[in-house]
Amino acid sequence: MRILLVRPRRMDLMTAFGGITCEPLELETLLPVCRQVGRTELYDGITEERRFTDVLLAFRPDVMALTGYLTQEREMAEYIRLTKRARPACTVIVGGVHAQLNYRRLCWPGVDYVFRTESADWFRSLLEALDRGEMPIGIPGLCRREGGRFVETPYEPCDIDTLPRPDRSGWAERADWFRYLDFARLSTLKTAVSCPFRCEFCYGRNLHGGRYQPRRLELVMEELEEVPGDTVFIVDSDFLLEETRVEAFLDALEERGIRKTFLCYGRADFIAGHPALTARLCRCGFRLFLVGLEGIRDQRLEAWNKGTTREINEACLQVLNACGADCMGLLLADPDFTAADFQALYRWAKEHGLRYTSVQVLTPIPPTPLYERKKGELLSNDLRQWDLAHLLLEPVHMGRRVFMLRYYWLMARLVLLGWRRGAYHFVTPAYLGRAVGRWRRRRAALR
Ligand code: SF4
Repeated sequence: MRILLVRPRRMDLMTAFGGITCEPLELETLLPVCRQVGRTELYDGITEERRFTDVLLAFRPDVMALTGYLTQEREMAEYIRLTKRARPACTVIVGGVHAQLNYRRLCWPGVDYVFRTESADWFRSLLEALDRGEMPIGIPGLCRREGGRFVETPYEPCDIDTLPRPDRSGWAERADWFRYLDFARLSTLKTAVSCPFRCEFCYGRNLHGGRYQPRRLELVMEELEEVPGDTVFIVDSDFLLEETRVEAFLDALEERGIRKTFLCYGRADFIAGHPALTARLCRCGFRLFLVGLEGIRDQRLEAWNKGTTREINEACLQVLNACGADCMGLLLADPDFTAADFQALYRWAKEHGLRYTSVQVLTPIPPTPLYERKKGELLSNDLRQWDLAHLLLEPVHMGRRVFMLRYYWLMARLVLLGWRRGAYHFVTPAYLGRAVGRWRRRRAALR
């Protein structure tokens, strides 16, 4: 059996610019089991310049398994169309974090299965059944075609300690692509899934049945010892949740003599409440903390069920500044913003020493509680606009164009502020020239 794993391309500004690109960890985790079942190739549309149809004709897959996010549904549909055109008998499986929660959206004509769980073992069961020419039955979270309609088995979160170690054999060849802003040649590591908090807008916390599960630390450390590259981005929704686990992680780093640079997500209240532990994290190599500050008004933080306050956000920044670490301040532009709110956000970032700031437009992503509350008010059904940089809800205090102009102006000022403070220095004329060349070559790849 020949299996083609596909991560779809994205041609939005951020991907074209290449400022934030991670390795295809989801698919790298499936690679070991796929290779046990048959010949497997991973086609990463983000970094790939070969035409997809050429790959289909040369590799002749029996199974094409595809991931993708909400904003990539159009591209996903195109990969499926091209596959069925070049290889009509090829079985198409759609999976990943978007499929896990929004699977009914993906039961398209060319799709044979929607695979919703993270389990590599169940994925292998599916492939083995297909290889034997049998109907896959009894696999949790599988939607399959039966008599012209889709039938589904209930989703069950798998035990993530059973996941195989990702196969990163393709990392070195593509390492120049993988970066988080100034942090280049990045490896990606996952040590937990979901999150026990209940922020109203958050998609990630609903994954894995909404059940937070940290991986056994021993497994994490074994994987970390093999991770290529000197910089590791821990992509847990929130790595800084349990004080004892973070301490144990640092103990293990020291015992095993692992020296790397780390980036991770963490909550403001954890950092503010653990200055000594944060200082130790920094001594052990943690350089950038991505913190969902979200806002600077307590009423908004409360309405979003964030569980933090402006005071906590400021205390968090004080701790990080004292440690000499950077905060990537993740903030939200609420359609309820006034002109003064945009201005206040900039002033606040400036006063509190932020170098890296990302402001996203508040977006109701299905099936979050925010989406359920606001789905009757959406301004557009165009999924490309769910990229957190478009207005999907009517602004309350100004017109849509004025809101977006203020938003872009705020972003531009924050980037300039960061630049003056020494951030984003990877953006050189040579870097931009390379990004444009890559974009041109990749534009022709989805054919
Ligand atoms: S703390 Fe972060 S990861 Fe957890 S629910 Fe809130 S936004 Fe999501």
